Amino acid sequence: MTMLLNCIFARMNFETIEAVKELLSQPQKIVIVPHKNPDGDAIGSTLALWHFLENRGQESVIIVPNDFPKFLKWMPGCDSILNFERENTQAKAKIEEASIIFTLDFNHLGRVGQMQSYLEEASASFVMIDHHQAPSDYAKIMYSDVNMSSTCEMVYNFIESVAGVEHITSAMASCLYTGIMTDTGSFKFRSTTGRTHRVVADLIDKGAENTQIHHKVFDTNTPQRLRLLGCALKNMVIREEYRTAYITLSQDELDEHNFQKGDTEGFVNYGLTLEGIIFAVIFIENKEEGIIKISLRSIGDFSVNEFARSHFNGGGHNNAAGGRSELSLEETASHFESLLENYHEQLKP
Ligand code: 5GP
Ligand code: MN
Repeated sequence: MTMLLNCIFARMNFETIEAVKELLSQPQKIVIVPHKNPDGDAIGSTLALWHFLENRGQESVIIVPNDFPKFLKWMPGCDSILNFERENTQAKAKIEEASIIFTLDFNHLGRVGQMQSYLEEASASFVMIDHHQAPSDYAKIMYSDVNMSSTCEMVYNFIESVAGVEHITSAMASCLYTGIMTDTGSFKFRSTTGRTHRVVADLIDKGAENTQIHHKVFDTNTPQRLRLLGCALKNMVIREEYRTAYITLSQDELDEHNFQKGDTEGFVNYGLTLEGIIFAVIFIENKEEGIIKISLRSIGDFSVNEFARSHFNGGGHNNAAGGRSELSLEETASHFESLLENYHEQLKP
């Protein structure tokens, strides 16, 4: 029986909870997958779910499509994560023999890169937990809610509904705290609700060491990263007439600063700290993949999700989205400039 259960409320609905409980009442072989280039929310949510399932005696494993940044590598349980690129044979076998695949923090299978075709061929039942717009319907059980601050907040709700929050250990609390913190820009984005703060308060009570987590995630600068930030800020182009600021970083500039994964995290946000700027973008050249990776952020009603979806083969949320371009860095930037005029009405001061 294929059941498509959609939840549009903050908490999971009754049918979704019952369907999950039924699945977990039997021993399963479980694979948990976050999106490619996993961030704090992707790693935090998958790890918390993994701890929860392991504690219930379910055989489970997290498979990341590719590596994740060093500033997340302190998280409890992260040593047991399989990397699809590095541990390819083992990861493929796990996907093939899985009876349930949880997909977390993404909305369509195109977000897992090379893993996509293996997931599409898997015989497992899919369970989606995600807060991105316009989810695809590959999952038997869907807990999808675009109003949620983070997938971590949703995993908290998931555990609350399926077993009770008393099952959240201090390791799980640290993982969930991290993802909520990173996806809400340290509890300041519009998606941060009173409920988000109540969840976070409970996570601190359950053992999440908030001060240390902020320190481990955010105070990890190297001299090269700070200088790369300097380079990015120097490259920033400000278009006041469109309330827009954008940054370009070429592969040469990244190489010069000994770029490490995660080094450009947060750079895009600097544009939004300028008075009057509501739209900020960063274009980062990736010669190995032959693409320009794009991150887009906005303040208020201007939807970067729509912008990324329409022009850069991407998507995300209203105020934070990503995409890509196959043009050169210069061509991508000038194409972007030419698009701004089309949004003149929304962007003009
Ligand atoms: P970031 O700019 O930090 O990579 O991503 C911002 C948000 O947009 C995240 O929620 C992320 O999942 C989403 N996102 C990033 N890149 C893509 C993409 O290529 N396609 C889609 N659909 N979403 C993306
Ligand atoms: Mn997220």
